[in-house]
Amino acid sequence: MEAEKVIAELETILGSEHIHVDHDTLGQFAEDLFFSGSPPIAVIAPASVEEISKSVHTCTTAGAAVLPRGGGLSYTAGYVQPGEDAVPAIVLDTRRLDRVLEVNPDNMTVTVESGCTWEAVMNATAEHSLRATMFGPSTGRYSTIGGSLSNNCMFFGSAKSGTAADAVLGVDVVAADGSIVVTGSGAIQNSSPYFRNNGPDLTGLFLNDAGALGIKVAATLRLEPIPNGQTAASFTFASFAALIPAIQAVGRSGLASECLGVGPAPLGLAAEANPSLHVVCEGWTQEIADAHLAAIIELIGDEGTQIDPAVPTFIRSNPFSFVQSPLDAKGRMQIWTHGVFPLGGVKEAYVGFLNVLKDHATDMEALEIEATLSFACAGQAMMVEPVLYWHGRAKNLHHNGMAAVTDSAPPDENADQRDACVRKIRDAFVSMMDEIGAAHMQYGRFYPYASVTKKETVSLLRNIKQSLDPEGLLNPGVLGL
Ligand SMILES: Cc1cc2nc3c(=O)[nH]c(=O)nc-3n(C[C@H](O)[C@H](O)[C@H](O)COP(=O)(O)OP(=O)(O)OC[C@H]3O[C@@H](n4cnc5c(N)ncnc54)[C@H](O)[C@@H]3O)c2cc1C
Repeated sequence: MEAEKVIAELETILGSEHIHVDHDTLGQFAEDLFFSGSPPIAVIAPASVEEISKSVHTCTTAGAAVLPRGGGLSYTAGYVQPGEDAVPAIVLDTRRLDRVLEVNPDNMTVTVESGCTWEAVMNATAEHSLRATMFGPSTGRYSTIGGSLSNNCMFFGSAKSGTAADAVLGVDVVAADGSIVVTGSGAIQNSSPYFRNNGPDLTGLFLNDAGALGIKVAATLRLEPIPNGQTAASFTFASFAALIPAIQAVGRSGLASECLGVGPAPLGLAAEANPSLHVVCEGWTQEIADAHLAAIIELIGDEGTQIDPAVPTFIRSNPFSFVQSPLDAKGRMQIWTHGVFPLGGVKEAYVGFLNVLKDHATDMEALEIEATLSFACAGQAMMVEPVLYWHGRAKNLHHNGMAAVTDSAPPDENADQRDACVRKIRDAFVSMMDEIGAAHMQYGRFYPYASVTKKETVSLLRNIKQSLDPEGLLNPGVLGL
């Protein structure tokens, strides 16, 4: 593969100002928030579907891999290639492909380009008093629709409406040869994207695919009216053992729009730590929202003590503002390692995570690594997610991926040791989750997919990849493909 020739061809498509080959940029795009990989040959930033199609065709014809990247707020090696077997690659930064193409209140759909942020979608749809049914992860000011659908994600509206994938009606995807595949009713001649299950669900193929099957260039999301009524409540519990049945009950009820359980930070390893639960309820009228909350309070019963709902109230009044940095308030690095569990499996997950933390307690204490644990309802499933906090070697993205509101302490002599210990704990979390059969979002190259999935299923997926990407150049290695 002749890198200079590929770059020259890309320059004719994009103009030289949208191709970056300088050492600093390549270094920055070789890292996510946790992993470092091989520097790419170039970073390109196309602004149209045509430019993406031509660029992908140019790269794959020359034998260069294409690593798609949106806001870059991942931590699972989704767009970086760590390890020995990195393929010469171009990073395709989608953030210039950022138009809201159509808000259609008649059909209750919004169609956007994949580099659009969730905040841009929220602002455009709010003009019509509408919103996407899942209206973004907490990083929605910076994370893109394309990256979020390729990772799948959850937060706003997720207890009621599930994950981002559940909001999608169709996608447009560029395959390795530059051709454009359209899914859902948008693929019918003379039709539009309003109905996902038009024949087999080809849309689903491209959701949570980590970009292995193609570059998303557009997506259509389902809309709903912004509810007129909203209320919030918070509760504290004597222990995680008391919190878990409560959050399961709220999840099963379908009465909350968001429902989050969080342990105090640091969790310590004390089972009696006082976790809290934060709930937002909505309704067509305020009376309906209040009635939903009253039912939840009854479901929780005496186990939970109501406290000031400052947390959910603040989150809702500042969507996409309450998380402004990948560093915590003390300037430490923080990293999340989640599993998606059935509602009935939350206790097993909790015990599994706690045992991993206990196994590493001595190292954590010596290296001052702290942990907490969070739970979040996502439709009929539950995300359980320990968070680790430590003074490590911050990456570029810790400073420029979001608003830089907190400075990290300069790395000391133990930073590398702490980073390595955090990696060891994350790997142990993943092994534990494999044993109990957890599902994931944000697979990247970190969470195992192919190696833990039934072989007939993986074989089908490999065949599909082969037809969209015969040389295996679209984000090689993600999902273990
Ligand atoms: C502080 C913080 C808070 C977070 N909070 C949440 C949260 O509330 N909920 C949640 O679910 N996650 C959360 N995350 C994780 C992250 O924000 C989400 O996964 C987000 O959706 C990623 O979007 P992105 O645009 O940054 O994707 P990227 O990180 O850029 O990419 C994600 C994956 O998608 C691929 N990709 C990117 N664009 C495309 C495309 N157009 N076509 C095909 N493949 C593509 C990439 O190769 C990569 O594999 C958080 C992260 C941080 C740092």
